[in-house]
Amino acid sequence: SKTKELVELDKRHFIHPTSAPKAAAEDGPSIIFSEGNGIYVNNMDGESYIDGMSMLWNVNIGHGQKELAEAANEQMTKIAYSSAFKGFSNEPAIKLAEKLASLAPGDLNAVFFTSGGSESNDTAFKLSRFYWKLKGKAEKKKIIGMQSGYHGVTQAAQSATGIPATHEFAGSSVEGFYHATPHLTNCELGDKNDPNYENSIRALIEKEGADTVAAVIIEPVQGAGGVNMPPEGYLEAVRKLCDEFNILFIADEVICGFGRTGKMFGIENWNVQPDFMSIAKGITSGYSQLGGVMLSDEIRDTIVNYDGVMAHGFTYSGHPTACAVALKNIEIIERDGLVENTKEMEKEMQKGLAYLEEKHDIVRNCRTLGLLAAFEVYNPETGEHLDPSLQAAATIVDECFDRKLILRHIGDFRVAIAPPLVISKQEIEKMIQIIDESITAFKNTL
Ligand code: PLP
Repeated sequence: SKTKELVELDKRHFIHPTSAPKAAAEDGPSIIFSEGNGIYVNNMDGESYIDGMSMLWNVNIGHGQKELAEAANEQMTKIAYSSAFKGFSNEPAIKLAEKLASLAPGDLNAVFFTSGGSESNDTAFKLSRFYWKLKGKAEKKKIIGMQSGYHGVTQAAQSATGIPATHEFAGSSVEGFYHATPHLTNCELGDKNDPNYENSIRALIEKEGADTVAAVIIEPVQGAGGVNMPPEGYLEAVRKLCDEFNILFIADEVICGFGRTGKMFGIENWNVQPDFMSIAKGITSGYSQLGGVMLSDEIRDTIVNYDGVMAHGFTYSGHPTACAVALKNIEIIERDGLVENTKEMEKEMQKGLAYLEEKHDIVRNCRTLGLLAAFEVYNPETGEHLDPSLQAAATIVDECFDRKLILRHIGDFRVAIAPPLVISKQEIEKMIQIIDESITAFKNTL
């Protein structure tokens, strides 16, 4: 069959991102996608799966939205690509920049475009260092990220990432990046008696010296590191800390942005104004490759006062077709009330997870913000996580896949759920039913 042929070609020629190369080369892909519609995706044989992760947390408006294809077609037919370097510009990029300024919280009124999240974070680090240099504080260079924070895979974004496996790969960490234990609210508020104090952002700033630290980078809700929600007051405490020590606050909105958490941007769930905001993924719902960093007026005004050339720019910064797709995507998010739907569906997701927790003694620690959710699997007798050798989370995700629901496990005991924002109550119920059956199937293997 055509699928078999493609599997063989894939095994031979396709080096897959964030995958086990040996398994990929020996077994080939478990699915080759051919079509999508709403929350559903089809394999080559026309079998339909629920995309419970919006692929990589990015297909916010769902699959198969023809209007985005039309927007791309229209722009490509006129002029698919043009440079934005040195005096060149294009209409979709200008209009998108203006639209983003109108949507972003507070005075984040300017944007530097990239092609994705990693590039956006690298850009945010460079621009924070550049900002301090222009302010006569060139020694402010260090970046503090969080343990279990995820910021991408380019050298700097990977270095800011607080997931050890990403650092072990090819010795990819560069100097100048530090990681704090996230969510130590009391420490960030100044409580030095906390036993974890030395791993806090505050302690790192004091140890390294505030005059060497450029910025702190934080996901409002940690995604790839485990769907970890900040406790009450934490993000506000970090913002205060940054103000106290003259350090810039970078909000990594690559997952949280564009409706995922039930607000247009994740940080809007808290009373915090970032200096930079990294965006990607949901900006086009994955229909085209685009990212960006948004800058506060203070940073923008400082940078545009610089007379020389800012030697930083990607070939695809301000890509007209990608920007046209993003504009249409944002139009659909607003027109179809997808942020509001996400807030509504949050309740259904919470209800569903509460049902699973009630029914299955291994399910605990469920959390949901908008349509960003996770549950964990525990040993009910010891109250500890299930033994990693049981591969509980991976097995439950495999059982879901067999039942035509795509989810993602994070480590040995967490399962993430992040469906497209167009999902309905009935579709969430269907997902929960499949997860329910899959947990039962896993328990039967014990
Ligand atoms: N930041 C966050 C919070 C992410 O989740 C990701 C990707 O998953 C990135 C940055 C990196 O984005 P990209 O893969 O587009 O480079």
